[in-house]
Amino acid sequence: MNEPYVGRFAPSPSGYMHMGNLLAMLLAWLDVRAHGGRILLRMEDLDPVRTSPEYARAIADDLTWLGLDWDEGWPEPSYQQSSRTALYEEAFYALEEKGLVYPCWCSRAQRLAAANAPHPGEAVHDPRCQCARLNDEERAARLASDRPPAWKVRTPDRTVTVEDGHYGTYTENLAREGGDFILRRADGIYAYQLAVSVDDMAMGVTHVVRGRDLLSSAPRQAWLIRTLGGTPPEYCHCPLLVDADGKLSKRVGSLSTQGLRETYTPQALVGKLAFLAGLIPAPEDVTPRELIPLFDWNNVPREDIMI
Ligand code: GLU
Repeated sequence: MNEPYVGRFAPSPSGYMHMGNLLAMLLAWLDVRAHGGRILLRMEDLDPVRTSPEYARAIADDLTWLGLDWDEGWPEPSYQQSSRTALYEEAFYALEEKGLVYPCWCSRAQRLAAANAPHPGEAVHDPRCQCARLNDEERAARLASDRPPAWKVRTPDRTVTVEDGHYGTYTENLAREGGDFILRRADGIYAYQLAVSVDDMAMGVTHVVRGRDLLSSAPRQAWLIRTLGGTPPEYCHCPLLVDADGKLSKRVGSLSTQGLRETYTPQALVGKLAFLAGLIPAPEDVTPRELIPLFDWNNVPREDIMI
């Protein structure tokens, strides 16, 4: 029997998708379909303030409109991170048992949006944070008297290498480059890095396709998964779509699906995305299914794509 090939869509329902999100989704879908695999849809709705069920519905509706189907997942509650807290807690305590978890009171660390995937230029680690250096007594005193802490994982001084399917070898020293990172925010919300690692492991994801801005998270996630006893998936990152102002962002609603659906038919938009991704020589009407035989990572650019 062939090895399972399992990919995923893992959107955060924090806004309408933009064209860059759609490109990553199309490539994730094509990668799975070209390999005869399965794809699941997981809603990364960890942060109750920044995400909403309305956006989750809109994202699922946009995928369907575009012709991208999924084999399992949303709207099943078990594919919504907001209902998977027990699993994250279990992993958190497993890491704590290994002596890898410590409380952190740095307000800067708490302000960092740990429940969201990091975006370029967003620091994940505050080099001034001294919380890891407290001795047991100092830590106990602060736990008893101070405001609730965030909880961080102590990263080892170890170089982790990820063989990215599109960008090649990517290496990072966890402690020196990435630094310790948050597992659970002070308000009890589990952080993106922990949740995504636990979920990819628990859901049997073997192939992750997503935007290149998350390449630098891959060593952290591969390490977390190995530390929790799992096998990391293969990672294959894809270029971002950028405009003159830089990366498109859901947060500012750039080229959101709302507007795109007024301008394009699904086939025209898939054709535009396929052209930008180097899969067809000119933009023309095409369905995702028609692209399966044409799909080849070698034709997808590595540089970000200007639109
Ligand atoms: N939910 C993340 C985002 O929308 C993506 C997470 C991932 O693919 O690992 O930015």
